[in-house]
Amino acid sequence: MHCLDCVLEGQTRPAVGICTSCGAAVCRDCVRVGRHLTRHVTGFSSADLSATETRQLACPTCAGALSVHHAREYQFEPSARPPAATQ
Ligand SMILES: [Zn+2]
Ligand SMILES: [Zn+2]
Repeated sequence: MHCLDCVLEGQTRPAVGICTSCGAAVCRDCVRVGRHLTRHVTGFSSADLSATETRQLACPTCAGALSVHHAREYQFEPSARPPAATQ
């Protein structure tokens, strides 16, 4: 499988993962590796909250949207690749 964003730009790069939000395949340059905090109750009251951290892979589009709209749950590392130039 090839990276969707790169194919749309006329390039073929092998995919290293899948965006867990939109399902697009992403290459090493496009992938955004982040952390997703899942909060869960560990006791009998809502005060007994714990958070588990899991890995989250996303394409640049979804990583941008998630880190804006769900900033408390999703934290992404800065992209290794500069954003596509807008024309
Ligand atoms: Zn790519
Ligand atoms: Zn995506």
